[in-house]
Parts: sequence; structure tokens; C-alpha cells
Amino acid sequence: MSLELQVCTVILAVIHYPFVIGVQWYARNRSAKPVIRVAEPPGQRAREIRNAWLTTPMHAALYFTLTAGGALHAAPETASLALGTFLLTFVWTEVWHYASHVAMHTRALHFIHKEHHRSRVTEPWTSVSFSVLEKLIFSLGILGLLALVSHWHEVSIFGIFAYYLLCFFTNTLGHANFEFRNPGYYTRVMGRVFNSPTYHTLHHARYIKNYGLITPWLDRLFGTEWPDVPEVQTRAASGEPLTRLSERVALDPTRIHLTQLPAR
Ligand SMILES: [Zn+2]
Ligand SMILES: [Zn+2]
Repeated sequence: MSLELQVCTVILAVIHYPFVIGVQWYARNRSAKPVIRVAEPPGQRAREIRNAWLTTPMHAALYFTLTAGGALHAAPETASLALGTFLLTFVWTEVWHYASHVAMHTRALHFIHKEHHRSRVTEPWTSVSFSVLEKLIFSLGILGLLALVSHWHEVSIFGIFAYYLLCFFTNTLGHANFEFRNPGYYTRVMGRVFNSPTYHTLHHARYIKNYGLITPWLDRLFGTEWPDVPEVQTRAASGEPLTRLSERVALDPTRIHLTQLPAR
């Protein structure tokens, strides 16, 4: 068992907390622009923090157990292997998260996911508030495929570690309920590829659609994206948040809507 593995595991077990506290500090002290201005119900944050103690270290525990136990073969590290593993983990996690998330919105499996959805108005602590089973499914799905791959192709544990750092940070921002991008973000190149906090905020507020994690492409492919995401983002970034959870925003007729293009 390498010292590097131990250090990466310890960092992964605790890093979500400074991310949450840092984003919360930013929202409070930098006049962040909320996506939805609706008060959280009493007790929400205390419940989310309780959930966090149980579930936050699970990614790290599985990462360590599978690697130290030999199920996930750690190859000698090179920069190109770390980058390749990072990209594989990124793409696979987008697919796994989308598929498992949609599955958990079916009647049969919703019990796994409903704890996370008790927070209709999100805040940074919502990003660490899950049931144990949901966190286990998410983490085992990511690392399970990488463990399989590692038996016929080299895999870098640093690449996985780097992806988790990105995932934890973007996940915290995704639940922060404030918009840090400029108005019109979704009409720009970055906005066509990567989600902003508005995206997942609408998933919690409206309960369905916008199932994607960091990118919107699978929602676009399967027609599960809210069409007014760009309009809500522009409103929020202009200092005009939604004032009701179910509020919809009229679509800008001058914008080409990807979800409305005819199928070829
Ligand atoms: Zn959901
Ligand atoms: Zn969420």
C-alpha cells in the first residue's frame, strides 16, 4: 500500500467540507446572485449536515479499499495515463450518474433518492446530503467500471483522484443556489458544454428533468432538459431570481432551442 494512496484517500475523505464551507462563505460575503429566492424550511441544514457525516467519506473508503485490495490495479503513474484516466472517469461518471439518477426517479427506486430531494431549495450542504445507499450506488458504479478496466488496461489512481476533486467542487457549486456566470451563459460555447448552478437548482425545485451532472448532453439526447434553463440563468445572473419553486420563465424567441430542433 503506497503512501500516495493513503494521502489521496485522506484528502478525498475530508475535502468536501472546505469546498462546502468556502462556497457558503462566498455566497454570504460576495453578494452572490440567488437562482431562487425562497426560504429553506427550518431544520434543513441540520439534516443535511447529519447526512454528510455518514456519506461524505464513502468515495474515499471505496477508493482505498478497491485499490489496496487489488480489485483496482494501480499502474505506475505517468502524466498521460493520469490525463487519460481523468477523461475516462469524467465521461463514464456522466453516463453512470445520468442513468442511475433517471432510474432513481422511477417509482420503484425513488426511495433511494428521496432523502436528497427533501431539499427543494438547495444550498452548499445539499451537495453532501444523500442516503447511504444512494452514495454507495453512485460510488461503486464509478469505481466498479474503472476496476474492471484496470484488469486489461492501465489506470491511474491520480487521474481518479483529480476527477473526484473536480466532481466534488462542481457538485458543491451546482447545489449553491447562486449564479456566478454572466447573463447569457448558455448561449456561449462554455454554456453549451458545461452546466452552471442554475441547471441542478431547477432539478431540485421542479423535481424532474435536468438529470445531468456536469454537462447537459445526455439530457439533450434524451429530451429531459428544462427548455427555460438559459432564460432562468440570465434572470438569476441579472439579479432577478425566481420567487416560486414551480415558476417557469418565457422562452426567448430569438434563441435557437436545441430541444426544439426537428429530429433528423
Ligand atoms: Zn433527482
Ligand atoms: Zn442534487
